[in-house]
Amino acid sequence: MNRTSALILAERAVPRYTSYPTAPHFVDTVNGEVVRHWMAALNPDASLSVYLHIPYCREMCAYCGCATKATKRDTPVEGYVTTLIQEIRQAGARTLAKSVRAIHWGGGTPSLVGPERFARIMAALGDAFDLSNVAEHAVELDPRVVTEEFIAAMAAHGVNRASLGVQDLNDHVQLAMGRVQPFAMVADCVAHLRAHGIAAINFDLMYGLPQQRVADVEKSAKLSLSLKPSRIASFGYAHVPWMRPHQKMIDAASLPGAAERLAQAETAKRVFIAAGYWPIGLDHFALPDDPLAIAASKRTMRRNFQGYVTDDADALIGFGATSIGRLPGGYVQNYPDVGHWRRAVEKGELPVARGLAFSADDHARGAVIERLMCDFSIDFGALAFAYFGYESYFDDAINALDALAAQGVLTRKDRVVTMAPNGRSFVRLAAACFDAYLAQDKARHSMAV
Ligand code: SF4
Repeated sequence: MNRTSALILAERAVPRYTSYPTAPHFVDTVNGEVVRHWMAALNPDASLSVYLHIPYCREMCAYCGCATKATKRDTPVEGYVTTLIQEIRQAGARTLAKSVRAIHWGGGTPSLVGPERFARIMAALGDAFDLSNVAEHAVELDPRVVTEEFIAAMAAHGVNRASLGVQDLNDHVQLAMGRVQPFAMVADCVAHLRAHGIAAINFDLMYGLPQQRVADVEKSAKLSLSLKPSRIASFGYAHVPWMRPHQKMIDAASLPGAAERLAQAETAKRVFIAAGYWPIGLDHFALPDDPLAIAASKRTMRRNFQGYVTDDADALIGFGATSIGRLPGGYVQNYPDVGHWRRAVEKGELPVARGLAFSADDHARGAVIERLMCDFSIDFGALAFAYFGYESYFDDAINALDALAAQGVLTRKDRVVTMAPNGRSFVRLAAACFDAYLAQDKARHSMAV
């Protein structure tokens, strides 16, 4: 593939496919009543994954793409935790499935709950569910607001992985992105985590940030490596001010263009691979002994709203405003507005705003897109046969891949398609060929790279 083709492809806007169908297609006919039946129908032996959303931060970072709100006060957090505990208790009473395999705290800034509320939430979770089989317990951390007391509480409650928002380690980029976080602060946080026995550490880094250049990405990557995280995610900043109005704080003219973004992504990748990390999926890197690298090599890695994961639980239950879950029947999203979410929980209702009931077609296309995004190759005939009993189900979409094949992005042999090594960055474009909702999609997406 030549550079010009790569740039044209990089500028195409496509979903990130952390779910299929994607969240803009969720509908409000999937409500609390529908989900109550889905919860009750869960097999008692089903394994569960739990996501806890804390939608508060001390201040808003200009680049933030998360569902969160700034607060300097503690009162909203206390009120939120009270409702969260109520929601957990109600969920425990709604299903016979109890065995939790994975817990993930995201936000926002989970550490804002502090050690005492963290313990209360864990106690409620332990009362409502069986936590004796939890294999992975992960918390997203902002190094600027995490305390050693909170890290000690995490360790005491079995947290074994921490995910640090690092993004970039250059002063001028940190100023432009509205998040000042010196390297020493990140290093201190890592040292405290390790001192408390939390050895699995993820770093989230970003390219495509305001004022960021290739040399800045390289410096951030190398400094990050000096702290030896076990996993690194290297995300492209998505400038979507029509969805996240606070991103208007970022001057669009200060953002790198498609050519620069592509060079930044490639630079980060080169630095991580040279240091012995394995490239995983679209944008992750992991040390060879990390469970994600092992899952990727066995083709058992999964993709969900948290990105690439090892978690293969039968159901994902989301707690808190905005959180998204996945039950065998379909996707479920809670009310994004905290007041709305709280009123529903206080009335004893499921706080479900919308969701999507899977059709057989959704299941099969979702599997295709997930395997493409995780494995970069797929036998469409075998997958179609497994779902529908014949191999030609996806033939129209496979034919649509020929345009990408002509540009060297992938190769195709009958119904077996493999992304070319230098075409992997464009896997979202291949996935989009299988997206039956894309034509009716009114949402604007971010660039392909
Ligand atoms: S980037 Fe993280 S810390 Fe910053 S506002 Fe968003 S959720 Fe909060």
